[in-house]
Amino acid sequence: MALDKFGRSISYLRISLTDHCNLRCVYCMPEDMTFRPNAELMQDDEIILFTRLFASLGFHKIRLTGGEPTVRANIVDLVEQISDTPGVRSLSITTNGIMLSQLASPLARAGLDRVNISLDTLDPEKFRRLTRWGKLEDVWDGVQAAEDAGLTPIKINAVVVRGYNERDVLEISRLTLEHAWQVRLIEMMPFAGATDLQVNQVVNWEEMYQHIESAFGPLETVGDGKLDGEARLFHLPGAIGDIGFISSVTKPFCATCNRARLTADGRLRLCLLRENEVDLLTPLRKGASLGELRQMILDGIWHKPWGHGLEQGIIPLNRMMSEIGG
Ligand code: SAM
Ligand code: SF4
Repeated sequence: MALDKFGRSISYLRISLTDHCNLRCVYCMPEDMTFRPNAELMQDDEIILFTRLFASLGFHKIRLTGGEPTVRANIVDLVEQISDTPGVRSLSITTNGIMLSQLASPLARAGLDRVNISLDTLDPEKFRRLTRWGKLEDVWDGVQAAEDAGLTPIKINAVVVRGYNERDVLEISRLTLEHAWQVRLIEMMPFAGATDLQVNQVVNWEEMYQHIESAFGPLETVGDGKLDGEARLFHLPGAIGDIGFISSVTKPFCATCNRARLTADGRLRLCLLRENEVDLLTPLRKGASLGELRQMILDGIWHKPWGHGLEQGIIPLNRMMSEIGG
């Protein structure tokens, strides 16, 4: 089991399969983004080796992310191998959904359990503005395909940005009246220099909450108000789905963090919003033994930072969201 020095047991690994993407969301990357050459990214056999290593250390929950994970050439084979890895009990993916109408069913057959699909607005024009060139109907078809393939319960991720989609939280929340989905409204996290967006474009979760209550009436707390992963869950009266608020900026959930990340270039990233990383890929390519890599992982996890420093104005500068994977 991998423990950090604060006593947190770390058992959830997010693997970024690529930094490449078929969209250019305004809060994630610039339009003229340059991606890493493929040789710098983990190759398939390296991803599988790391997965086995992490699983043997008790990482039983894996999420594949990116960049956009579905643009990785052999995603279906990778999913099959990862889901067959001893110790992996849950395998999910975070995707923009563009490719899901073709991939949902092969991915489900390969062993994928669930999907989180990013969808920030239901208005096609606003969707294009937020993603710079995405077509809303492609994502919508993808959501449908994921549901048909049994990749449920579907979670919809919406990053809320002032000046773009802060009013759209109503339409997105309304989806839960008809669909047994969890829609998650996410505070935008500032990544220095990566985008033109400013800190004053962060919409805090309380503002979203009040806006939804004033339209639909009082929200009911789901369960006893505990976090579901990183989301605080609520329910519209009569809804069959849930609304989650992810308040990483204004009300972080660091105390219960159980996750680590593997970047597309093979670095163990210890906190999404801190720069601390351990390079695993270079030692692997230089011939480090499995025992040595195992020890590097355990030592890295031990030194996982307690939490982020956004409130003190500390913003990670070394990577963009698309390189870490969210
Ligand atoms: N391409 C996939 C997608 O968009 O779902 C997976 C990678 S993306 C980096 C993972 C998640 O991070 C998405 O839900 C995306 O909306 C979210 N995200 C990206 N930039 C963000 C930011 N600046 N603040 C908060 N969430 C962000
Ligand atoms: Fe691509 Fe996802 Fe970033 Fe949007 S949020 S640009 S889809 S990686």
